[in-house]
Amino acid sequence: MTLTIPFDNSYARLPNSFYARQAPVPVRAPQLIAFNTDLAKVLRITPGEVQDMAEAFAGNTLPEGAEPIAQLYSGHQFGNYNPQLGDGRAVLLGETVGTDGLRRDIQLKGSGPTPFSRQGDGRAWSGPVLREYVVSEAMHALGIPTTRALAAVETGEVVFREEPMPGAVLTRVARSHLRVGTFQVFAARGQLDSLRRLTEYAIERHFPQAAGPMGLLRAVAQAQSELIAGWMSVGFIHGVMNTDNCSIAGETIDYGPCAFMDSYHPNTVYSSIDRMGRYAYSNQPGIAVWNLAQLATALIQQMDDKEAAVEEATEIVHAMPDLLEQHWLTRFRAKIGLVTEEDGDRQLVSDLLARMAQNQADFTNTFRALGGDTARDQFTDPQAFDQWTDAWKARLQRENDPRATMMSANPVFIPRNHRVEQMIQAALRGDYAPFHRLNDVLSRPYEDQPEAIDLTRPPSEGEVVHATFCGT
Ligand code: AMP
Ligand code: MG
Repeated sequence: MTLTIPFDNSYARLPNSFYARQAPVPVRAPQLIAFNTDLAKVLRITPGEVQDMAEAFAGNTLPEGAEPIAQLYSGHQFGNYNPQLGDGRAVLLGETVGTDGLRRDIQLKGSGPTPFSRQGDGRAWSGPVLREYVVSEAMHALGIPTTRALAAVETGEVVFREEPMPGAVLTRVARSHLRVGTFQVFAARGQLDSLRRLTEYAIERHFPQAAGPMGLLRAVAQAQSELIAGWMSVGFIHGVMNTDNCSIAGETIDYGPCAFMDSYHPNTVYSSIDRMGRYAYSNQPGIAVWNLAQLATALIQQMDDKEAAVEEATEIVHAMPDLLEQHWLTRFRAKIGLVTEEDGDRQLVSDLLARMAQNQADFTNTFRALGGDTARDQFTDPQAFDQWTDAWKARLQRENDPRATMMSANPVFIPRNHRVEQMIQAALRGDYAPFHRLNDVLSRPYEDQPEAIDLTRPPSEGEVVHATFCGT
């Protein structure tokens, strides 16, 4: 069998100022670590021989129809504008239209230098590659929009970080790689024809019902609000919500120093480079609004009537906090068993979260246990939980099947940091069993899987991961 990918590359048909044509740079001895058969089926990909797939997903051979490009973008990094970023270690091979009718990008990440690499080597090491594979697939299974992982290969080459590490390439699949930063780069340069062309492209590809640039802005506000509410509901901290890591399609993208919280605290930060806590857990909704304001600023540049555009964009940006709050409340209502809406619900959820924060309650395990009778054990002072339950139980009387609601809103399994870290350490020793096991268990996160109970446990003192790294 030959690996075949039915490419149809719309981005490569855009003006060549949008990207640089760039083939992946071959590697010495590629080895296939993982191939996502289920995703491949959706993408209408026919798998090939293992070694052929290793060569293809390392970038040593190009599947027929691939037109590799490195995409141009810029963006605000920690609030400061960087005029040129772009794919510095990734190439887009092309796009396919899946069995579900959806168009998706297929991108190699870690595939060698491009014109946008600046000082970087264009490579990735196996830790972040396996991490993104596991975490992005887990996110998908949790029901939160995300890029996906199609394949992981090790390159047989060494990349130098703090020390020599094994090189790897991730094949990433995304609804697109359009970022807020893709719009910013043309707006900042005053390239209005490109900005208009990009806007039309984004509307056609993602939001065909949107009317013009402001319609696009409204649609992105909606998609991003749903996304961030999803993150909050599972205790996910992205870690680098720069505008270049903010997807127009509303997917989680660019898994760097991301992490899921163990014990709940709103100020939790893991990323070692986020010293000010700009991207702390509870700051994420506010940052999403800030990012939308940057998109608004970029989109406005192309409008003939700037005054009217500013007015409309301001209204959309100012409406986003409410939108976020609505989606957040829908998610958290479900987490405590509520489908119907009452005025006191926000207070009920907030009260629980405050008590969890005070009592170092594990975020995932506490919510999951609400459907049983062990939630109080998650609190250093179980009475803090008991005091909350009277109001909650009274409220549940007016719900149909709260337990079912909770069971489908509260996962048993998340990719806990210490497990991800242990998985990476095992892989470095050549043992990929933990990697495959995590993928398997996390593909059914809402199912009780008694044989995997160890993966529900918070880290012991020695296992706690205090900081996560970009791993670039
Ligand atoms: P990220 O932090 O992954 O969102 O990356 C920010 C920017 O740095 C993007 O333009 C990346 O392409 C670039 N970059 C990150 N790591 C590397 C690397 N190892 N080599 C070249 N460019 C990189
Ligand atoms: Mg990025």
